[in-house]
Amino acid sequence: MAKYNFFEQVNKNFDKAAAYTKFDKGILSQIKMCNTVYHVSFPLRRDDGSVEVIEGWRVEHSHHKMPTKGGIRYSHKVDEDETMALAALMSYKCALVDVPFGGAKGGVKISTRSYSESELERITRRYTFELVKKGFIGPGVDVPAPDYGTGAREMGWILDTYRQMKDDLNAEACVTGKPISQGGIRGRTEATGRGVYFGIREALNVKKDMDALGLEVGVEDKTFCVQGLGNVGYHASKYMTEAGAKLIGVAEIEGAIYDPAGIDLEALMAYRKETGSIIGFGTSKELSDNSMIFEMDCDIMIPAALESQITAENANKVKAKIIAEAANGPVTADAHEMMKERGALIIPDTYMNAGGVVVSYFEWLKDIQHVRYGRMNKKFDEGSLLKIVRELESISGKAYNTADLERLTYGAGEADLVDSGLEETMITAYNQITEIREQHNLNDLRTAAFINAIQKIGIMYEQMGIFP
Ligand code: NAD
Repeated sequence: MAKYNFFEQVNKNFDKAAAYTKFDKGILSQIKMCNTVYHVSFPLRRDDGSVEVIEGWRVEHSHHKMPTKGGIRYSHKVDEDETMALAALMSYKCALVDVPFGGAKGGVKISTRSYSESELERITRRYTFELVKKGFIGPGVDVPAPDYGTGAREMGWILDTYRQMKDDLNAEACVTGKPISQGGIRGRTEATGRGVYFGIREALNVKKDMDALGLEVGVEDKTFCVQGLGNVGYHASKYMTEAGAKLIGVAEIEGAIYDPAGIDLEALMAYRKETGSIIGFGTSKELSDNSMIFEMDCDIMIPAALESQITAENANKVKAKIIAEAANGPVTADAHEMMKERGALIIPDTYMNAGGVVVSYFEWLKDIQHVRYGRMNKKFDEGSLLKIVRELESISGKAYNTADLERLTYGAGEADLVDSGLEETMITAYNQITEIREQHNLNDLRTAAFINAIQKIGIMYEQMGIFP
């Protein structure tokens, strides 16, 4: 497969959208560039006593808002180009969903399967040490989060290392996606996949677009395939199936399966845990190669693994009517054009997977406020609602039973508020994108999403002035 320069792909999309804005060329160049790129290498003492050199990066793409924000990826494919591209996407994503951060991304070039847990802990702590030493982490500076190959466990190690090195009252806000016991927030683990579901639901509710695709409005009964059953792919599939969509194809590292009769997600997860593979599950048919997933019949294809999966080489074989980019950069710029040509609807990554950073923002807010959402008002709200219900009872003469009372007087806790904030954000952002699409008579959600982001960041640069 041809090697794509990921940052160049992002910039192609940027340039296409920038032509619809009125910003000075210099401002556009400033938005596009990565402000700081930090490359680090350090030694790891392996469990067998040998020493290995580990490479990592942290890229801060845009300082138009502070702190900068973006995940940390662990993969043997990590390199500077990929980290720069992902950092840039973070700036556009944050702008799009009105999260007041600049974009950043980190990466460590390791295959997590090749290291023990204690080796991964040493790598994570040393990488964090390097970030602290050079000022690339802190609640007001740069705030990492999980990405491919990392999760709450790694974020906990990062916080602990930061706290040992810094006397910082807001230390917990130096990283998001942490375990709840360490200042994490309810709903962060599932946030990206949950956001993917909300985003697809919004797209499926636009009658004009569904008519053009020959699909009914709504999630129910839509068929979908997913590439990657990790954090994002699993949660997106979970919420899609809960809403009545049918999972019919799955690709993982070991291969791919397809079953038009439907795949039971939880049973598949249990089967994979037990056997180490998705192959041979139920009545599903094994595909000859895991990339064959893109060629299968389905309404919606959800790539949720890595970038450059649908390229000029396979774009013409993709049968799905909707491509929901849960992963970052799964469709190259030329593949996008080819699929658009045949009328496919591509829901772009900058919007599609923004749920993660939205809830990370809520977590950061919680940590700098040092108080859990709902703690101050849950009881008060429940008391107020109870007063209203008692009034209703006295007016109507009806007495509610305990179950009704609990339902009617329920006060929102942290998980409810996070979920409602995420849903509201995904709806608002989709409306903004489709409005821009109409305004410019575009047949392309990605360009509309980029225009939206460029406008918001460009105005910041224009208003803040440039140092002499
Ligand atoms: P993850 O490590 O939890 O899961 C990725 C899964 O993809 C793994 O199970 C892996 O085995 C599988 N995979 C890798 N290569 C594959 C291939 N060729 N075919 C099929 N499966 C393959 O990672 P994640 O956090 O779910 O991230 C997935 C994507 O979503 C990445 O592009 C990431 O940047 C993006 N994303 C993640 C978050 C987040 O909150 N975790 C937020 C925004 C975007």
